[in-house]
Amino acid sequence: MEPRTPLIGLDRASLVQLCRDAEVKDVHAKHLLAGLFRRNQNLDDIIELPKKLKAWIAQHHTELEVGCSTAQLSDDGTHKFLLKMPDCKEVETVLIPTKGRVTQCVSTQVGCAAGCQFCLTATAGLTRNLSVAEIVAQVRFMRHRTPVRNLVLMGMGEPLHNYESVHSFVRIVTDPLGMAFSPRHVTLSTVGMVPGIYRMIEDEMACNLAVSLNATTDELRSEIMPVNKAYPLAVLLQAMKDYTKSGRHKRVFVEYVLLAGVNDRDEDALRLKQLLKDVPCTLNLLPFNAFSGSLYQAPSAQQVLHFQDQLLAQGIFAIVRESRGRDISAACGQLKTEQRQRASR
Ligand code: SF4
Repeated sequence: MEPRTPLIGLDRASLVQLCRDAEVKDVHAKHLLAGLFRRNQNLDDIIELPKKLKAWIAQHHTELEVGCSTAQLSDDGTHKFLLKMPDCKEVETVLIPTKGRVTQCVSTQVGCAAGCQFCLTATAGLTRNLSVAEIVAQVRFMRHRTPVRNLVLMGMGEPLHNYESVHSFVRIVTDPLGMAFSPRHVTLSTVGMVPGIYRMIEDEMACNLAVSLNATTDELRSEIMPVNKAYPLAVLLQAMKDYTKSGRHKRVFVEYVLLAGVNDRDEDALRLKQLLKDVPCTLNLLPFNAFSGSLYQAPSAQQVLHFQDQLLAQGIFAIVRESRGRDISAACGQLKTEQRQRASR
């Protein structure tokens, strides 16, 4: 007997197929989309479905809910949750309220294999990919609590290392009959997995692309981000340009984590202008959030502004993104790792 798959991991095409397999009308796929994803209901609560379909689903699929192990609320309103998956593996998801809009940061893997030197999640390595249902469950968990406008795939994990699940996730959350997130409000952030970026282009994945750049020379980038050894700056920048040419509203967000004395010097600002001059992008400067044992320091507020001024003077539009949830270690992957460290003491 085949293992039963979670119902919330199915996109519209799969739900239509499910209805055909169950020998009920296709229209019930729309009822499932509306119930599961728009109204956030469980199967039993979707009254439009015939008994025959519910019985068939009960035989072939499971319901998947995630439990919450820990929740922490920051002074600035950022809310971080540690969620427990069915096999008891845990991932974090973070709610970030800004000017009346709420953004949810979603995880795509348990741990991460990308090995970025400035990231605490990297120290734990990769445990496993999350299934599409486990990624969708994080969003359903939050929608029980508050309306969310933006989704960013910037939690634990490198999304393009888990391409199939992430692609299905994007299809599910942007389906206008379901959760109906605007593709402009869903952002996938990568360290620069070039083949994955080209797959996104080929598949016309309906979301924004953010690239975590963080260095202006191959030497430094390879030191702090091992992915650069496989896909150096010239190759990555070409992929970013190709992405922006591939569709209507394609624009890349470039993320640049500022590490004091490492990548925030005047020569870095000059090189950044050269690197990005032909890439239609928005540049976000993110002052590093230091953690216990980290190899790097956070730059001073003065240095951050100086770096931004250098870029603005050269005609590069750069926005400083304030660190959110600093008091609860809401930076990439910190809650999970803190739990793990406490447990191992
Ligand atoms: S920054 Fe993101 S991609 Fe890099 S190691 Fe951390 S979780 Fe992975």
